[in-house]
Amino acid sequence: MTPQVAEWIKEYEAKPDRFGPDAARLGEGPKVDNDLYVRDYDKCILRSKCVDACGDQWQNTLAISVAGREFDARIAVEHDAPLTDSACVYCGNCIEVCPTGALSFKSEFDMRAAGTWDESQQTETTTVCAYCGVGCNLTLPVQDNEIVKVTSPHDNPVTHGNLCSKGRFGYQHVQNRG
Ligand code: SF4
Ligand code: SF4
Repeated sequence: MTPQVAEWIKEYEAKPDRFGPDAARLGEGPKVDNDLYVRDYDKCILRSKCVDACGDQWQNTLAISVAGREFDARIAVEHDAPLTDSACVYCGNCIEVCPTGALSFKSEFDMRAAGTWDESQQTETTTVCAYCGVGCNLTLPVQDNEIVKVTSPHDNPVTHGNLCSKGRFGYQHVQNRG
């Protein structure tokens, strides 16, 4: 649980335990169906910030939505297809706003699984994406001299933390030392 979620629980005096075992999460395990990002909806609290980011708030791709009702409600792509068969354009703007870690970079997911993810050893550098003239800001967390994911400052007055797929995921060339 992120500090932001803990603040919401306190602010709204939420008592998740009152829903009993019927509120148990989906139990599906992480969806690892592409090389860029992982969806682990057992961590999802249905805040729907990803749906807004993919929809008319920012991205206007509309690749994801809330499917089902009540305890069956969940975030899904059309027809519950793999992400690779959906309308997703891999901008990662949904990852940027997810407050629980239900959406995460594959790089972070793999490092956490291997026990090597260590934020205390990471430095962050904010720079400018070099791919095109829009000039979005990128924040690059670096651990052991490797970029481990890409975020973007939400207070940027032009892009508000949003990027395209190149800025979000196209960083490997920076550390190609072959
Ligand atoms: S990566 Fe972009 S297009 Fe794909 S689901 Fe997330 S916000 Fe929508
Ligand atoms: S993130 Fe995409 S839109 Fe923004 S500067 Fe980079 S290539 Fe251009």
